[in-house]
Amino acid sequence: MKFNVITLFPEFFESPLKAGLMGKALDGALVEVSFTDLRAFGEGRHKTTDDTPFGGGAGMVMKPGPVVAAIEAVRAEDPETSVVLLTPQGELFSHERARTLSEERSLTFVCGRYEGFDERIRAFVDYELSIGDFVLMGGEVATLAIMEAAARFVPGVLGDSASTEEESHSTGLLEYPHYTRPREFRGMEVPEVLLSGNHAEIEKWRRTRSVERTAKSRPDLLEFADLTPEELAAVKIGAPE
Ligand code: SAM
Repeated sequence: MKFNVITLFPEFFESPLKAGLMGKALDGALVEVSFTDLRAFGEGRHKTTDDTPFGGGAGMVMKPGPVVAAIEAVRAEDPETSVVLLTPQGELFSHERARTLSEERSLTFVCGRYEGFDERIRAFVDYELSIGDFVLMGGEVATLAIMEAAARFVPGVLGDSASTEEESHSTGLLEYPHYTRPREFRGMEVPEVLLSGNHAEIEKWRRTRSVERTAKSRPDLLEFADLTPEELAAVKIGAPE
């Protein structure tokens, strides 16, 4: 899978892309990343990429010329790429969206700064994505989050591909609790069932904890989760009036 990133700060990505599984994916050529420095497409002697907003107001707005020229330069090299605009006004990014994006051969991320983009830039992109209902200083962190989440679905990037099938959000529920050694930590014991070797009982216990945890932390997810009538009843009993 190929990622292109259009940014004013290519150096932002250096360290995060070297670390952990993402670093390995890049070393193993399972994932490829290229950067386009937006400054190179800036206008005039000062390579300007932003200007004051028409109508007044605080902050600077990213000019359409440099951003669209950068998108067109990337598309000329990589015609099949889908262009993603990072914006807090976009579709809320999700596990499911990460999975569908991972099926694309190439994605190009356009990172904003300042007050955001001139509205006309939107006509040149395929998707608008937000990573949450908060405002970051720029699109770089959002790009890294989306790249990592999508790369996890690329075959071979995770050692154990089952990891993407069982974890939080893949089943509509949050994942069950995990424990490792030691068996006792500061007075807290590992649940007996996990030491039993009884796989059916372990599965049952994990499913129950998963439903309970989702009901407690993210009750909004339960609406779309595939629950048995017994699980549904248990969740309703536990829910506040
Ligand atoms: N004034 C803009 C607004 O209210 O929608 C916010 C601009 S923000 C300070 C600068 C840039 O950060 C945005 O253009 C976008 O690229 C990025 N950004 C900020 N929050 C984001 C989020 N939640 N998801 C994705 N990108 C975000």
